[in-house]
Amino acid sequence: MRSPAIREALGILNQLRQIMSGAEAVPEKMQRVLETIAVKMQADAACCYVTADDNYLELFAAYGFRQPSGRPLRLRYNEGLIGEVAENRRSLLVDNIWLYPKVSFRPELAEEKDFHSFIGVPVLQWNRTVGVLALYNTEEGARTETDVELLETIAMVLAEILSSEEVGRYKKSLIKARGVAARERIKGVSLNKGYGLGKAVVHRRRQSVTSIFAEDREKELRRLEIAHQQMNEDLDAKFNATKLGLGEHADILEAYRMFAKDKGWYGKIVDNINSGLAAEAAVERAFEDMWNRLSASSDRYLRERLHDLRDVSDRLQSYLSGDYKRAAQIEADDIVVVAQTMGPAELMDYDYTRIRGLILEDGTPTMHVAIVAKALNIPVLAKIKGIFGEIQNGQTVALDGNEGFVYVNPSPQIEADFRKRLAEREELQKKLASLRNLPARTLDGKDIGLYVNVGLPMDFDYIESTGCAGVGLYRTEIPFMTSETMPDVEKQVSYYKELIDRCGDKKVIFRSLDVGSDKLLPYWAYAGEANPAIGWRSIRITLDRRAILRKQIKAFLLSAAGRELNVMFPMIADLAEFEDAKETLMIELEKDRARGLPVPRKVNVGLMIEVPSVIFQLDDILPKADFISVGTNDLAQFVFACDRGNPKLAERYDVLSAPFLQVMKTIADKAAAAGVYCSVCGEMASNPIEALALIGLGYRNLSSTGAAFGRVKSMVRSVNTEEIADYMRLLLKSTRDTLRPQLIAYAYDHGIEIY
Ligand code: PEP
Ligand code: MG
Repeated sequence: MRSPAIREALGILNQLRQIMSGAEAVPEKMQRVLETIAVKMQADAACCYVTADDNYLELFAAYGFRQPSGRPLRLRYNEGLIGEVAENRRSLLVDNIWLYPKVSFRPELAEEKDFHSFIGVPVLQWNRTVGVLALYNTEEGARTETDVELLETIAMVLAEILSSEEVGRYKKSLIKARGVAARERIKGVSLNKGYGLGKAVVHRRRQSVTSIFAEDREKELRRLEIAHQQMNEDLDAKFNATKLGLGEHADILEAYRMFAKDKGWYGKIVDNINSGLAAEAAVERAFEDMWNRLSASSDRYLRERLHDLRDVSDRLQSYLSGDYKRAAQIEADDIVVVAQTMGPAELMDYDYTRIRGLILEDGTPTMHVAIVAKALNIPVLAKIKGIFGEIQNGQTVALDGNEGFVYVNPSPQIEADFRKRLAEREELQKKLASLRNLPARTLDGKDIGLYVNVGLPMDFDYIESTGCAGVGLYRTEIPFMTSETMPDVEKQVSYYKELIDRCGDKKVIFRSLDVGSDKLLPYWAYAGEANPAIGWRSIRITLDRRAILRKQIKAFLLSAAGRELNVMFPMIADLAEFEDAKETLMIELEKDRARGLPVPRKVNVGLMIEVPSVIFQLDDILPKADFISVGTNDLAQFVFACDRGNPKLAERYDVLSAPFLQVMKTIADKAAAAGVYCSVCGEMASNPIEALALIGLGYRNLSSTGAAFGRVKSMVRSVNTEEIADYMRLLLKSTRDTLRPQLIAYAYDHGIEIY
């Protein structure tokens, strides 16, 4: 039995399709489309806006207004009722628009004052608002929720119409004529650095839904069943064959696979087919229902799951339409994938050795696809509104993940510049790789301990490829963050042991779980905090939830049995916290010994220097610590009282300025006086010019990212420690807000290699 809304919509749909297949020009056709919708739905007026760019909606067609100028040609997102529908991508029913707080009182709307009732629905393509369809009635309270449902179904047809080539061309010419220029250089948020140049592949796994209703329910259910089964078989085969190795990626992909088999989701699609929708539309409706329920949720985990649901829905639709067979046919050797949003499995649909960049219209650093792309060394730019609709397949795209820009169809000069940069990078990589077997020794014969920071198993490759002295920071929260559930001791041991085995005799420093603030665990509900960076995070969480810390310590002890174990605690604010954490470790060690379990040969316990208060207590702490490591990322944010994740403040304060360098010098001097091993594992150690300053302040152990290792080593091998120490003493007297130019000039003058 079809729902009444679907029965009615079916009749309207047939008429709209007839109009669109006629010979008239697009504006006339659109006029008739709107007229038909308005008449069928007994509206006094109707209008359709389309999205022009990420700020504006353009009037596309209108019917029933007294004059064509009875509507504004352009509206901002969030302007008036139409703008509100576009921005929230949610339908809106208003009984009396003049009592509604958001109504836009623009002069050209004056003629519409007769209208009272309003319904507006978003026109959606690939989960993106591409337009708004609205109806007006003079009568107050003329509309019901059933009308909304009907109009939503009609909007699906309108989405199909708007996605046709003919209408698309007209839309572009209209927007161009009204002066909204195409963008050439577009700013985004970098989720992974690097340069990329290639041909755009617009990741569109399916065409918009074209068959919305179906007569034969049984046939649709069978199609669904076959497509669902085929999709799951292919996913199983793909993931089993993945060469990305085991560990976190496998967990991400495994979770995805479970999602694709979810019975609740499947059941909803079946219900939608039973109400009269075709299988493709039923999948879309199931997604939209979920979107409407979850997108406003404050639970980050639930919202992130919507990306996976979008991915699985698209995939299933492509299996229904047969499109999935065409997905991988890409000619170019170098491709830049452009997606509105993407699940991790979708990235794996492409030959990742050819992906030179990934551009996402949405996207957060914790998004699964961003984590996978990072591990594959693919530069990623995100949060570029409107880019998905703007870039065409095959266009040349240059992506600057360092500065956060995308160039679409770059000028020959820009393209040449990118090619030059890429060639230089390749050349440099070769040169740096050739340093692998040379000692990290300065010109005056001082050996510097150069280590790498690791998190994802992919980083483990750097242990061998860089020829580093070991791992100076293992961010153990990364495997926790990429797991779907809290890893138990056994699982943790498997992660830690893999690292220890890869390191052989090399030193490894484990950091206890450092979550909270920007590093959230998907399976933990976090109470919203006003200031998460200085909130309940890191060691504060693990001391309060001691069982988690104990389990992790157990896993550390077990995995390092018979070897040396180095554990450090992050975000320690005072001696009491350090002693508390250290005691927990010692108790577990004693317990294991008493039980006769194999234990590490030696256990060293250290702390990270990240919270300024701890620096003032170093004289008491250092005698109790086996080592310290400075986390300059957090330390700088607290010393300058400057949120490290706030892009507005990113350039405001420089770690290469006297206040911060003085802090760093105090730490190095105190550790040296106490004879305690001291290293830096924050970003400063990964930036050659900043690492140069650290050497000048007396640091002899640096732990950088694997990618930066060669550049840091190159700097180390070209510096004289005595000379830079003298220069730093001089520089520290400066009151300038940044000493970066002076240090760069110094490096240049002294032939120090800072790539
Ligand atoms: C730091 O704060 O410098 C650090 C190394 O820790 P994370 O960046 O993981 O917070
Ligand atoms: Mg930190």
